[in-house]
Amino acid sequence: MSEIAKAFAINDALKQLGVEKINKGTSTGNENFGNGAEIISSSPVDGAEIARVTTTTADDYDKVVAAAQTAFKDWRLKPAPLRGEVVRQFGDELRRLKEPLGKLVSYEMGKSYQEGLGEVQEMIDICDFAVGLSRQLHGLTMHSERPGHRMYEQYHPLGIVGIISAFNFPVAVWAWNTALAWVCGDVCIWKPSEKTPLTGIACQNIIAKVLKDNNLPEGISCLVNGDYKVGEMMTTDKRVPLISATGSTRMGKIVASKVGERLGKSLLELGGNNAIIVTPDADIKMTVIGAVFGAVGTAGQRCTSTRRLIVHDSMYDKVKTAVVDAYKQLKIGNPLDENNHVGPLIDKDAVKGYQNALTKVVEEGGKVIVEGGVLEGKGFESGCYVKPAIAEAENSFEIVQHETFAPVLYLLKYSGNVENALDLQNGVNQGLSSAIMTNNLREAEHFLSVAGSDCGIANVNIGTSGAEIGGAFGGEKDTGGGRESGSDAWKIYMRRQTNTINYTTELPLAQGIKFDL
Ligand code: NAD
Repeated sequence: MSEIAKAFAINDALKQLGVEKINKGTSTGNENFGNGAEIISSSPVDGAEIARVTTTTADDYDKVVAAAQTAFKDWRLKPAPLRGEVVRQFGDELRRLKEPLGKLVSYEMGKSYQEGLGEVQEMIDICDFAVGLSRQLHGLTMHSERPGHRMYEQYHPLGIVGIISAFNFPVAVWAWNTALAWVCGDVCIWKPSEKTPLTGIACQNIIAKVLKDNNLPEGISCLVNGDYKVGEMMTTDKRVPLISATGSTRMGKIVASKVGERLGKSLLELGGNNAIIVTPDADIKMTVIGAVFGAVGTAGQRCTSTRRLIVHDSMYDKVKTAVVDAYKQLKIGNPLDENNHVGPLIDKDAVKGYQNALTKVVEEGGKVIVEGGVLEGKGFESGCYVKPAIAEAENSFEIVQHETFAPVLYLLKYSGNVENALDLQNGVNQGLSSAIMTNNLREAEHFLSVAGSDCGIANVNIGTSGAEIGGAFGGEKDTGGGRESGSDAWKIYMRRQTNTINYTTELPLAQGIKFDL
């Protein structure tokens, strides 16, 4: 074990979370199994192996689905507030285990400990939200056009929800889905990213205990592990009515077509290419904080990371100087050390993607103004630490149009009015998060208007990065169109049924149609 892991007491955290050196990666709650090959989970922080997880075979998968189907028959009959009570207890367990789980998230994924704790806090928050929701799964009542008739709509659970998640939010996205799906009466099968399988084992251990303590059947929360092939078992399986998939646009297109072929539902949370517009009325200090945190936080590995800074030409030099100066103060290194701002990328493939972006932007005519590079030597043995870079570029460059999951920020210039900035901002295929920095009410309102940002998230005087669980989260266009978390996102986990009841002795038909016998 490395000095870093020792200082961070990783072994204690693993012990508290019930994560072993070799873990069976398939679970129905009561039983853990998994006869497939092992995935090695290693930390991008120091390159050390943490533990192993066995993958799910086709036979294992069938066993999981059978358990989930049986559990659904029972779970759907429990009153929703009772399901909420189970989710409340799950939230309490997360509170109890916040530190060890936050540590594992940080160490396995490479984000800072504060962000690891923040992720677990998001899980707790969505549990609280779901508990309240369990008493508010409202349908509408409407007036019937026929006398003596009552008409209303109600929501029923769908059945099995298949969750496929990405490495960068290894636990929060699962909880966003499960907490809501469970109160809705669904059962869940989760395939975590093959890059972060241990956080999956830890979460499954936590919920399995809660379900057992409540004498609930196995199968309400299931885990499978492996790469895209295990994901495909779910996307092509008609027994799984909803697939919620978070990851790259490339993955989302495949998932959408597989699920679409069988007329299943999909909830897609895919890549972003997020921009901050900086107008002549922007507060420079706020702009710099928002842009720098958005671009380098989590080493640029958030779906909401700031990729493009679109600056008015009258402010361009000022903003450029301020942001470049701020980059000089960034400390790169072990993310478990609070003094560092930037941790590692997830793996060496991500490093290649970063290097490729910096080569391409120059080939296309851009200019690197804050040099990048891969760090070597003591503390950087994993080979995953890179320097946050900034390049002046054009929106039309192919590389700028593309989401590079790394700390590369493109500086773009606009002139004239805010419509020109919006043309650039909206002129990409992705549509996740967007922001404007301005104290001008007209510009701010225009940005939020129907003619403004085309993204799922549009912020004024806040960066693009991060979101609260109370709002519906997701984006348009190549980001996939899905919404998770707050507001009425719960509706995707349920099927809507319209009910009409005739309490007369007549049988009048709708639209005044006569059918006399
Ligand atoms: P990825 O697409 O490589 O993998 C995501 C998940 O999909 C993994 O579990 C993977 O095994 C699975 N998968 C891949 N191909 C599949 C297939 N053909 N069928 C079924 N499953 C398949 O993404 P990643 O590198 O883990 O994560 C980074 C990406 O995720 C970025 O693009 C980021 O923007 C995006 N992301 C989006 C959101 C959002 O809410 N919009 C949130 C987090 C991450």
